[in-house]
Amino acid sequence: MALRILEYVRPKTLEEAFELLQNEGAEILGGTTYARLSSRTIKLAIDLQDVGISDIYEEDGYIVVGAMARLANMQFHDLIMNYANGYLYDAISYVWSVQLRNIATVGGTVVPKWGFSDFITAVLALSTEVEFYKAGRMKLEDFLENPTPRKDIMTKLLIKKEPRKASFKFMRNSVYDFSIVNAALSAKEEEGKLVDWRVAVGARPGVAALSRKAMEVLNEGYDDEHIERAVNAMKEELKFADDFRWSGEYRKEVAGVLVKKAIGEVIG
Ligand SMILES: Cc1cc2nc3c(=O)[nH]c(=O)nc-3n(C[C@H](O)[C@H](O)[C@H](O)COP(=O)(O)OP(=O)(O)OC[C@H]3O[C@@H](n4cnc5c(N)ncnc54)[C@H](O)[C@@H]3O)c2cc1C
Repeated sequence: MALRILEYVRPKTLEEAFELLQNEGAEILGGTTYARLSSRTIKLAIDLQDVGISDIYEEDGYIVVGAMARLANMQFHDLIMNYANGYLYDAISYVWSVQLRNIATVGGTVVPKWGFSDFITAVLALSTEVEFYKAGRMKLEDFLENPTPRKDIMTKLLIKKEPRKASFKFMRNSVYDFSIVNAALSAKEEEGKLVDWRVAVGARPGVAALSRKAMEVLNEGYDDEHIERAVNAMKEELKFADDFRWSGEYRKEVAGVLVKKAIGEVIG
């Protein structure tokens, strides 16, 4: 059986969409690439295509990406391609296929907090915020670490436009497979130094999380000794678990290698 939709609506404003969402059994549609894999019944499907949250633009020092922007629109946008040496262009290119990236939306990718997500790990390594219609704006890490705002609509992803060097790494069995584990790192370039390090590890198999201990170590220094300490701190701090594919222990070891490689790339 396929996904069934009993009623389909295409509101013209966010306000209207939000009101419709409060109905029992109402759900937001992103690109429906994931939603359509289930055999559920959605009573009221709310398509956000007409509410005006698909644009990508620069505002107040942030790259703003509308929640209905497709991953491919984001990947090929000048603001993204020119940011951090094309870091996000590159990271997004690993999300499955061109066909999927042409349909999947930024909102449908961030809101479900899937553990396997490469996209979330990549943006978490930058100074990123998300905005919801009612709950407002929050840091991406706060969104990931707390319950998702209920019956709300994600409207924007906001990436601080600052001079960052970044690297995204993953391990998977083949190109068309989910990451067994992934890691993304970035640091801000300031007066010839690398500061404000961010270390994100995902597919553990839980959703991406920051290793604040590793970040602390790298903020003290990034010579060989600090790099070793940062990798160990990450392995101690973050939880790695087994699933049907790989053991937590294996994931942890691979994550250590990925983080070390990514630090090396950021240092250059
Ligand atoms: C075959 C396959 C392979 C994939 N491979 C990868 C991969 O390698 N790496 C990776 O990172 N990702 C991967 N993904 C995930 C993909 O990138 C998308 O995140 C996912 O498919 C959902 O995108 P969508 O826009 O179609 O969301 P939908 O399926 O439409 O929606 C997903 C959920 O998000 C909710 N939602 C959507 N938009 C909003 C909004 N604005 N506000 C509130 N809630 C909202 C919906 O109600 C629904 O619950 C894969 C997905 C598939 C199907």
